[in-house]
Amino acid sequence: MNAYVERVIEETKKKNADQPEFLQTVTEVLTSIAPVVDAHPEYEANALLERIVEPERQIMFRVAWTDDEGKPHVNRGYRIQFNGALGPYKGGLRFHPTVNLSILKFLGFEQIFKNSLTTLPIGGAKGGSDFDPHGKSDAEIMRFCQAFMTELQRHIGPSTDVPAGDIGVGGREIGYLFGQYRRIRDSWDNGVLTGKPLTYGGSLIRPEATGYGVLYYAQQVFAHENDDIKGKTFALSGYGNVAWGAAKKIAELGGKVVTISGHNGYVYDPEGIVTEEKINYLLEMRASKNANIRMYAEKFGCEFHEGEKPWGVKVDVAIPCAAQNEIGMKEAEQLVANGTKYYFEGANMPATNEAIEYLQSHGVIVGPAKAVNAGGVAVSALEMSQNSERLSWTSEEVDAKLYNIMKSIHDASAASAEEYGLGYDLVKGANIAGFQKVADAMMSQGLF
Ligand code: GLU
Repeated sequence: MNAYVERVIEETKKKNADQPEFLQTVTEVLTSIAPVVDAHPEYEANALLERIVEPERQIMFRVAWTDDEGKPHVNRGYRIQFNGALGPYKGGLRFHPTVNLSILKFLGFEQIFKNSLTTLPIGGAKGGSDFDPHGKSDAEIMRFCQAFMTELQRHIGPSTDVPAGDIGVGGREIGYLFGQYRRIRDSWDNGVLTGKPLTYGGSLIRPEATGYGVLYYAQQVFAHENDDIKGKTFALSGYGNVAWGAAKKIAELGGKVVTISGHNGYVYDPEGIVTEEKINYLLEMRASKNANIRMYAEKFGCEFHEGEKPWGVKVDVAIPCAAQNEIGMKEAEQLVANGTKYYFEGANMPATNEAIEYLQSHGVIVGPAKAVNAGGVAVSALEMSQNSERLSWTSEEVDAKLYNIMKSIHDASAASAEEYGLGYDLVKGANIAGFQKVADAMMSQGLF
């Protein structure tokens, strides 16, 4: 491998020894762009890789709030403004007890290249808190969001940094966050957050965008393989925003989702999550205070597999839509043994680097997260455009733009892989295409 790439990976490991998820993505991305670095000796002369693995700014802050009994709690808040070469920092906020610096740096690093792939002018960022929304009342969520924004507001703005949702942050949380921003800043800057409800500047199709985008990307892969989504079976994990949007589009395209999952197990529904009632029930579950995937199995009378993941179910297509690293070697082997041909990442970094290599070397077509799930942030950027011009577009308009963006992400990834003699490797292709644009912008903006 390229000696410069190797050196920067080693240095990053030394500097961030306590951040395994961040090191996982840095190793994966830098390894796959080695051929580009080979072709551009000026990158080393300008310390480009050393700069790209170091966030431009990382903010950590105290969030103190009171629960319904009046008891105070303290959480840690974060915003990682990773790279602003292409536009204002952009990326979601995650509220989940597993959140730490490593998780947010991995998400922020991935976001740089994902956002670059969308073709839209957005830099890469991520933020959030180790706050656990599970079991909290609506008033507690509101007080937490207000406390979080009281500090965050000084670091963000429509042309500076534009947060959105991620795990644990949806329309309700964005509403509370925006309310507090507006109260403190006293100006109508609704482009400061995306994923807003429709009444004050949200975009049509934003809730569906990540899941729809997964399928628009998958359609390009199926076309490349002279195959069709119609009649295919799908295993999904998760039951949140991404799984919901994907399930909706899969049903529309004539496929059949047979699994969804939660932290405590998965549901197997051989009839398929294809009716409006079942798909809408995912939203209902998510909105309930003590959401539990078992509720689905009980309501629709199907199997619940406690403590298990869905990857042992025989399907044509696997789409992880939950959190990071749920697929290791064991699960990759199960997918290959079951003859699963397609694997698309709805979640961010749902598999280990070894698992991805195993899938690819056994003929599974892998669509990587930063390409496959870019539809969410892409429509966020379209929401920013609508807020800037103080207009809103029709759902047909947004949906058509989303489709074209997903197609261009697929085509750019395939073309980059081809250019570097890598065949139809959509993983390396996405890394190369995403990286190249950021690298060019950073080179032309001088050393900083
Ligand atoms: N959290 C989403 C992602 O992982 C969306 C971010 C956004 O809309 O800014 O890309």
